[in-house]
Amino acid sequence: MLAKMMDRPLLISSLIAHAGKWHADTEVVTKTIEGPVHRYDWAAAEVRAKQFAQALQRLGVKFGDRIGTLAWNTYRHVEAYYAIAGIGAVTHTINPRLFPDQLEYVVNHADDQYLVIDLTFVDLVADLLPKAPKVKGVIVFAGKDDMPDVSRLRNPICYEELIAAETGDMDWPSFDDNSAAALCYTSGTTGNPKGAIYAHKSTIVHTLSQIAPDCMALSARDSAMPVVPMFHVNAWGVPYATAAVGSKLVLPGRDLDGKSIYELLTGEKVTFTAAVPTIWMMLLAHMKEVGGKLPDLDRVVIGGSACPRAMMETFQNDYGVNVIHAWGMTEMSPLGTANTPKRKHADLSDTAAVDLQQSAGRPLYGVDMKIVDEAGATLPNDGEATGELKVTGPWIIADYFNIPEKAPAHAEDGWFGTGDVCAIDPDGYIWITDRLKDVIKSGGEWISSIDLENVAVGHPKIAEAAAIGLPHPKWDERPLLVVVRTKDGQDLGKDDVLGYLEGKIAKWWMPDDVAFVDELPHTATGKLSKLQLRARFKDYVLPTA
Ligand code: ADP
Repeated sequence: MLAKMMDRPLLISSLIAHAGKWHADTEVVTKTIEGPVHRYDWAAAEVRAKQFAQALQRLGVKFGDRIGTLAWNTYRHVEAYYAIAGIGAVTHTINPRLFPDQLEYVVNHADDQYLVIDLTFVDLVADLLPKAPKVKGVIVFAGKDDMPDVSRLRNPICYEELIAAETGDMDWPSFDDNSAAALCYTSGTTGNPKGAIYAHKSTIVHTLSQIAPDCMALSARDSAMPVVPMFHVNAWGVPYATAAVGSKLVLPGRDLDGKSIYELLTGEKVTFTAAVPTIWMMLLAHMKEVGGKLPDLDRVVIGGSACPRAMMETFQNDYGVNVIHAWGMTEMSPLGTANTPKRKHADLSDTAAVDLQQSAGRPLYGVDMKIVDEAGATLPNDGEATGELKVTGPWIIADYFNIPEKAPAHAEDGWFGTGDVCAIDPDGYIWITDRLKDVIKSGGEWISSIDLENVAVGHPKIAEAAAIGLPHPKWDERPLLVVVRTKDGQDLGKDDVLGYLEGKIAKWWMPDDVAFVDELPHTATGKLSKLQLRARFKDYVLPTA
């Protein structure tokens, strides 16, 4: 028997329609690429999104067409998110930090009809266009007076002029909510980037789970600043979630250094923010230097890679900011888990509470998880057994976008293999030890590179650390710890590092050597690139080997 309920599709346009109508005067603030701070409200954002939607239709953009964006977190980029998806086209957010051949690959693979870009990326796109012959034109996010030299762009269009010609007087069209809305490519640490193509419905369901109290707890009382870029898995959904609840939205633009972020956090009285640990390293260093305070900031979501304990403690103990450790991936829209305590944790000591926060969190409603051994057999959720994490749920990809061969991650049984290794405890908290390809295999046992790194960066003279496995005749592999010293820690030596680790990690985990470098390689999303690091140290021989 069928129910008698209204069959209203769950479309992305409904988010901005809600914000534009019921949170009309709530601010959207941007530190613009041109320089000044731009302010308007959700009502104005919706009108301009509709103007851009009309303009795209006038340009001939059709249902299902992909439109690439190369842009920072700004109000215009938010407008583009809603305009493109709103007419049933697909927002393909492109990470500008991809290597040139990867950029070329994703634009052509996605078959982007137009590129919508920030001023910053004019040269990048001009170099790309000869290799992307099917792109019809480039829309530049700027007003007429700020238009740069666009002579090398194909069919350049000024965004403000384009939308000024439209009224914004339209109803968002209705269509099947299983239609594609957005496309993100993984940064492709091996092989070509692979695309995850999200539906309207999957995005809305993800949004509803994301705003819940045990995830980001977003509300109309928040001033929310996604520092995580809108080209990194849709800024973890924050541009959608803030519209759903009508929070103030603060967009940091291009400058993601500690000083710029600090100024926005305090100036805009930001209560909620989110980004990868690298960003927070820069912020905390800046605040230490200037004696900063964060009186308004209530919580910070840290994910994308493991959040070191020392970072958590600094935020919480020194600045009174609650850390929400989260885990996810591009293939999961991206949220899988968030770390908030349960009722039974109310009486934990401060130390025990921070111990629990080291977990990347427990499953959001909508995501189910299990761990499996190498033969694929399910392992117990006892907090001890470790295996590959598999996930299933309505906002997890069933397959990658347009690749003929079945992706190795996709299993027949409806579970997506994350490539992450973890333990799951009986409460559902996941304890990630590594990526499958990064574990250090010593004498048949696995050493967690993540745990080693997290302990190491607790040393006040260590700015960043990476552990990789190097060949060893007896043990197969043994750990090498690669360390970047802090500015004032240049006298730090190997014995200091090993001495610091002693007692904090199992004896057999002790690195066989420590190497000091000025900088560690990072991927396009700011994570340690173990692949590049292993390549750099491929001829390195451990003193014990
Ligand atoms: P990319 O692979 O393009 O860098 P993703 O952002 O999709 O992009 O990366 C997802 C991966 O990041 C996860 O599979 C996991 O390995 C890692 N990751 C994300 N959050 C955490 C976390 N809290 N702790 C440890 N690793 C994490």
